[in-house]
Amino acid sequence: MEHKKIIIAIDGYSSTGKSTVAKQLAKALKYIYVDTGAMYRAITLFAMRKDIINESGFDQEKLEKALPEIRIEFKINTTTGIAEVWLNGENVEQEIRTLAVSNYVSPIAAVSAVRKKLVEQQVQLGKEKGIVMDGRDIGTVVFPDAELKLFMTATAKDRAERRFLELQERGEDVTYEDVLKNVVNRDHIDSTRKDSPLRKASDAIQIDNSTLTLKDQFDHILKLAQTVINNKD
Ligand code: C5P
Repeated sequence: MEHKKIIIAIDGYSSTGKSTVAKQLAKALKYIYVDTGAMYRAITLFAMRKDIINESGFDQEKLEKALPEIRIEFKINTTTGIAEVWLNGENVEQEIRTLAVSNYVSPIAAVSAVRKKLVEQQVQLGKEKGIVMDGRDIGTVVFPDAELKLFMTATAKDRAERRFLELQERGEDVTYEDVLKNVVNRDHIDSTRKDSPLRKASDAIQIDNSTLTLKDQFDHILKLAQTVINNKD
């Protein structure tokens, strides 16, 4: 008998390894993976290019007016098999990962009109279930009825180290201190904003990955998912 498909919501602080585990899980279960952070990053890139946000400020009204012009899609990269994010017909998967985008994304993600647009799209993506979605509000707002909710944490130091290595590997000229500042600052804005602040859903399972190897963490999470899926039949 075919297993029933479920929704897996993974939330947590910046750079806690959510997307690594979400991708592995989606691959093992043959589920779709959706990186909602990439959607907020793509809107941020749009705003940066139009000078809606820059060093001198953020024109929120202009962004709200421009929202209907912004089209975000995921398309599978046929070489890697992984979905990449496209902004108005352009593949922006690489460009949205820079520290410059990370530095502007949290104020953009605090805007209710931005969240409304993206949450609607995310709900649609999960209609057929069989999805692993990661972000900040997936278990609390996007899929409050998700069958499995995880909340990932790790120390700020561990998280900044991970992100620093990632950016260095991509050839970005950044310092560890800049990355640490960004991680701490984003977490602060994300958890104190009025609309959908980052918090653990009461029924989410907390995973602290400062203490687990990637493999142990994945094995543990896969077991959790399989138990939920088997009990659903
Ligand atoms: O996951 P990632 O670090 O790429 O997310 C970038 C930013 O997008 C977060 O710091 C947060 O401000 C915003 N975000 C959000 N809600 C989500 C996913 C991301 O507000 N579901």
